[in-house]
Amino acid sequence: MNNRDHFKGISTTAIHAGENPGPSTGDSAPPIHMSSTFHVEEEASFSAVGFSEDDPYFYSRWSNPSVDMLSRKIAALEGTEDCACFASGMAAATSMFLTNLSSGDHAIFSDVAYAGVSEFARDTLYRYGIEVSYVDMSDLDSVRNAFRENTRLVHAETPANPIMRITDLAKIAELAKEASALATCDSTFSSPIATRPAEFGFDLVMHSVTKYIGGHGDAIGGAVAGSRELVGKLRSESCIHHGGIMSPFNAWLIARGASTLPLRMKAHEANAFAVARWLEDHPKVSLVLYPGLESHPQHLLARSQMENFSGMIAFQVGGRKNGEKIAEFMRRGLKVIHYAVSLGHHRSLIYWLGTNEMIESSFRLQGEQLRSYRAFAGDGLFRFSVGLEDPEDLIDDLDRVLT
Ligand SMILES: *Cc1c(COP(=O)(O)O)cnc(C)c1O
Repeated sequence: MNNRDHFKGISTTAIHAGENPGPSTGDSAPPIHMSSTFHVEEEASFSAVGFSEDDPYFYSRWSNPSVDMLSRKIAALEGTEDCACFASGMAAATSMFLTNLSSGDHAIFSDVAYAGVSEFARDTLYRYGIEVSYVDMSDLDSVRNAFRENTRLVHAETPANPIMRITDLAKIAELAKEASALATCDSTFSSPIATRPAEFGFDLVMHSVTKYIGGHGDAIGGAVAGSRELVGKLRSESCIHHGGIMSPFNAWLIARGASTLPLRMKAHEANAFAVARWLEDHPKVSLVLYPGLESHPQHLLARSQMENFSGMIAFQVGGRKNGEKIAEFMRRGLKVIHYAVSLGHHRSLIYWLGTNEMIESSFRLQGEQLRSYRAFAGDGLFRFSVGLEDPEDLIDDLDRVLT
């Protein structure tokens, strides 16, 4: 396996890791291996039991050369031994949870996380006899108090979608380790250019590669990076039996995007700084949350664990009525920025997330946890994925609708 140690820099890693010139053709660009099955030359077991990554290709639900190429690239970027790719970020997340949790287990989840993950934990895991506690991961005492005898997994997300709250990765990994629980992190908002959770002691790092790693808004996919042992378990249980595997075509598209990830993240960050500073000075904007700004309540923590502040900004425009009105202006008036969900693409994307709706549909918070959510989100916020256009055009576009 090509891992990051083979190259000095992350840009070389992004381009070359996982790729090798084809042995028979010498092709410099990786080919797409659109084959569902493979010629078997030696007796092979028909069952997934005992399957290892080094076995010859057999069937593409087991493994596929194009998907392996992307897996190796992501493992190298994250600095982990291995990585498995999935059909979507949600397939990656659910595989990670269902492979590592069993009936009677307890897990601790960030009380604010990607909506799909939050809803899955609340509505599905309990049906399998898995108990979940939801805690504000920025409050270490709450995390400490949430551990039980049977806590097997701790799931963090940083920055947390959509409020941009930061989790102290080193501290959470330490608490999980003390309790012999697996530490998992959704690192989609950071990308491996900003933060590599495995370096802080996390066991599994999950991405929606639909977002920054793919980066072009044309392919859905997910990935989980970690040790050979943990990823091997995911491959033989989740890929082969749950079956949510990535197609070779998507792997090829996403790997092509991943090659320019270091360069794109620099540009995302530079644009996000320009737009965030402009938003901070705008009279209609009541709060801007960008981890790179000193005004972010956890700026120092962000600085200590993020090497790039990424391109995600959240901002408020006063109360709910105003937010909804400006969202309507955006749907009709934006010329460059697309009013759409998703993030991490070269195109800028913006979306209004009303607090009441988010709490009702996804987070279901009360008391102190609801107050903490509102401290970031107010009545609602715009989640702005700052793309790679010229910042002048993004600012002109926002200026048109922030009236
Ligand atoms: C989009 C997203 C997901 C889900 O990924 P899909 O590829 O849409 O399934 C999970 N976590 C975060 C933080 C996301 O932004």
